[in-house]
Amino acid sequence: MGAHFLFQCKTCKYKAEVSGGVDFGSYVKVQTRVCSNCRKIVDVITGISTTKSIIVDVITGISKTKSIEKNSYLKEMEDLVNKCPYCKQDCTTPWIKPFPCPKCNSNMINKGITCKWD
Ligand SMILES: [Zn+2]
Ligand SMILES: [Zn+2]
Repeated sequence: MGAHFLFQCKTCKYKAEVSGGVDFGSYVKVQTRVCSNCRKIVDVITGISTTKSIIVDVITGISKTKSIEKNSYLKEMEDLVNKCPYCKQDCTTPWIKPFPCPKCNSNMINKGITCKWD
């Protein structure tokens, strides 16, 4: 189970609903990253898991368990590993404190939890 937070830039009011770090759902592992192409804050899938085995490791990018059968949902997710969900370009820069705004470089403030996802 993961959670989303609303971050808002204190200067230009750009908003992003992201996990703000590393997070886990039932099937995917995500990390909040900066897409330099879109200049957006996005949650990027860094690994896919089925029931218990994580099959794509975030650091090495190597499938650990190749025998697991994936349904089409997982296949779709797999195509997005380490990619921006909007432009589909490689997106590998983690978005970390002090949470710089991708539009104006001011800081973004965590306004609180918005929803839980699974
Ligand atoms: Zn800004
Ligand atoms: Zn992008």
